[in-house]
Amino acid sequence: NSFSREDLNILIEECVHLAYHGMRAQDQSFKCDIDMKLSPEAPHIDMIRADLSRVLLNLMNNGFYSAYQKYSEDGSGEFHPQLSVSSALVSPEEVRIIIEDNGKGIPADILEKIFTPFFTTKPTGKGTGLGLSISFEIIRDEHGGHMDVESEEGSFARFTIDLPVTSRKN
Ligand code: ADP
Ligand code: MG
Repeated sequence: NSFSREDLNILIEECVHLAYHGMRAQDQSFKCDIDMKLSPEAPHIDMIRADLSRVLLNLMNNGFYSAYQKYSEDGSGEFHPQLSVSSALVSPEEVRIIIEDNGKGIPADILEKIFTPFFTTKPTGKGTGLGLSISFEIIRDEHGGHMDVESEEGSFARFTIDLPVTSRKN
């Protein structure tokens, strides 16, 4: 559990493949378009790799799940599930990761609770409600970064993570 300087884009790619594979293992018929915009400028950053991968996996799993829910409820066959993932260098000291899905979105009254431990809207056995609260701690307390969410119900959910390139904590 210590910091190392690692390629952020490689970690993101690994996590996307793992998460998508996990989703498709549950239902082979599910296909999701994955829009990757990984900046070649995104530098190696200081990270606790195992922990940051937990965060990315959780956000991606949540995104795929929400897109899958909308896909399952869609009678028209017109809905095209999509997960967008990007990395960018926003200043010499800071990178930004955005993970966005076009699934069910998050109602305003729920949005304020999602980072609370054990809060989940998933059926028993499907979710612990711990993913986002742990992710929030890993980003803020461990990595000195920032995590935020925007959403429109029925339309999208977008999680933004800002991370310092050089940790102040290692
Ligand atoms: P869990 O995945 O076990 O439910 P999380 O802490 O990861 O726990 O998420 C908490 C809740 O936040 C979810 O149950 C869901 O209601 C909401 N949520 C998180 N991510 C998304 C998303 N991408 N789209 C819609 N709802 C989401
Ligand atoms: Mg989760």
